[in-house]
Amino acid sequence: SPPNSTTGDCLGPAATPRIVLFPSAGMGHLVPFARLAVALSAGNCCDVSLVTALPTVSSAEARHIAALFAAFPAVRRMDLRLAPFDASSEFPGADPFYVRYEALRRSAPLLLGPLLAGASALVADIALASVAVPVARELHVPSYVFFTASATMLSFKAYFPTYIDAHGAGRGVGDVDVPDVYRIPSSSVPQALHDPDNIFTRQFVANGRALVAADGLLVNAFDAMEPEAVASLRGGAVVPGLPPVFAVGPLMPVKLRETGEAAEEQGNHRAWLDAQPPRSVVYVSFGSRKALARDQIRELAAGLEACGHRFLWVVKGAIVDRDDASELSDMLGEGFLRRVEGRGLVTKSWVEQDEVLRHPALGLFVSHCGWNSVTEAAVSGVPVLAWPRFADQRVNARVVARAGLGAWVERWSWEGEEAVVRAEEIAEKVRAAMGDETVAQKAASVREAAARAVAYGGTSHQSLAEFVRRCRGGT
Ligand code: UDP
Ligand code: UDP
Repeated sequence: SPPNSTTGDCLGPAATPRIVLFPSAGMGHLVPFARLAVALSAGNCCDVSLVTALPTVSSAEARHIAALFAAFPAVRRMDLRLAPFDASSEFPGADPFYVRYEALRRSAPLLLGPLLAGASALVADIALASVAVPVARELHVPSYVFFTASATMLSFKAYFPTYIDAHGAGRGVGDVDVPDVYRIPSSSVPQALHDPDNIFTRQFVANGRALVAADGLLVNAFDAMEPEAVASLRGGAVVPGLPPVFAVGPLMPVKLRETGEAAEEQGNHRAWLDAQPPRSVVYVSFGSRKALARDQIRELAAGLEACGHRFLWVVKGAIVDRDDASELSDMLGEGFLRRVEGRGLVTKSWVEQDEVLRHPALGLFVSHCGWNSVTEAAVSGVPVLAWPRFADQRVNARVVARAGLGAWVERWSWEGEEAVVRAEEIAEKVRAAMGDETVAQKAASVREAAARAVAYGGTSHQSLAEFVRRCRGGT
C-alpha cells in the first residue's frame, strides 16, 4: 500500500530538505502556495517555510495566513515586514496587487539572503522570478519557480519574450502562436500586455525571460487536462532550454477553520446549501481580485433572477476587500433581494469556495476562470460557465472549454471592452448549461482524471515526488 505521505518516499530527518516558499500577493497566489506547503510537509517529508510579507494587501490574505499556521504548525512561518512602497508617481493608478509585486521585487535581493540561510531550495512565485532566481544562484541555493496559473498560460509566458523580440514591443499585441500549444488570439492576450510600459508587462516579460535560469518549474496543472502545453514545455518546443517542468496539480484544498464573523457567514450559506436539492444551485463568483462594473452587476442580477434556478452569488464591490464599503442593496437594485429570497443567496463576504464547490447541491459554476477556481471546479467535477474578465482568464477559459470542464461564451466582454452582457443572454446561457447532461458528464470525467493525476503513482504525484528528490540533492 502507498506510504502515508504526499510524496510517498520520506527518508527520515537526515534527508529532510529545507524548502523556502516565497509567494507574491493576492489570494490567487497565496492559496496555491499554502496548498503546496501542506502537500510538501505531509508526513514530514520536507521542512517547509512560508514567507509572509506583512501587512498583506487584502484582509482575506491576513485571515488565510493566520488560519493556515494555526492548522499546520509544522509549516514554519517567516514574516517579512515590508517597508511602505509608494508607487503613485512611477505607476499612477496601478493595481494594488501589482504594486505589491513590485515592492517585493525591489526588496527581494536584500531580503533573500537571510531567508535562504541553510535552505535546500527556494520556490519563488512567478511574479518574483527574475529577481529571486539570480539571487538564489549567487547563494548556491537551487531555485524553482512556481507558476500558479495554467500550463497553457505558462507556455504563453515562456514564449512571450520571443514574440516581443520578433515583433518589437509596440502598442498592441497581435495573435500569439505558442509553438505546438495554441494560437492565442489578440483578444485573449492579458489586457495589460498591450501596453509595453504597464507595470505588469515589465514584470511579465522579465519573469518570462528568467524561466530558463531556474532549476525547475512547478505548475498547478496536470498532464491530462493540458496535454499539449505540458508536452511542449517539456519537449523544448515552446522555448529551448527550459528546466524540468513539474506538473503537480491540482493541489488539494486544505481545510482551515474560520473564526468570528467569517465563521458565522459560512454557517449561513452552508445551511442554505444543505436545504437545496442535488445539482440545483448555480454558484457565481468572479474571484478575489476584481469587482464587476456596477451596470454589469445589475444585468447579472437580472439574469440570475430570470434564469429561474437557485443561485449563490458572491458579489465584490472593490478590488481590495478592505476598501469595499458598498451595500448589496445599492449594487443590486431596489427589491432584488426580496424578490429572489429563498431561491437566491447573495453575499459580500468570503465563502470557502472549495467547500461550496464540493457540495452536492452545486450544479454550475459561473466563473471568471481564475486558475485556482478552475482547479477547484476540476477537483469537484462541477461544470463551469466561463466568463473571463482579465489577465490570464481567457486563456484559462479556453482550457476549460477544450478539456470539457464547461462552456465559454467567447463574445462576452471583459475589462476594457465596453459592451455590457445583457440579462437575457446570461439567463439563456445559464439555463442551457444547467440542462446540459453532456457537459455534466464531461466535467465528471475531468474530476476523475484529476483524481488519477494526484493519486499515488499518478502523473502529478510522481512529479511532486521527483521535485522532492531533487531538493534532497539526488538527481
Ligand atoms: N476564494 C474563496 N472565496 C471567495 C473568493 C475566492 O475561497 O469568496 C478562493 C478561491 O476558491 C480560489 C482563490 O480564492 O482558491 C482565488 O483564486 P483564483 O485564481 O480563482 O482567482 P483570483 O481571485 O486570483 O482572481
Ligand atoms: N503572472 C505572471 N507574471 C507576473 C505576474 C503574474 O505570469 O509577473 C501571472 C499570474 O500567475 C497569473 C496571471 O499572470 O497567471 C495574472 O496575474 P495576476 O497576479 O493578476 O493573477 P491573479 O491575481 O488574477 O490571480
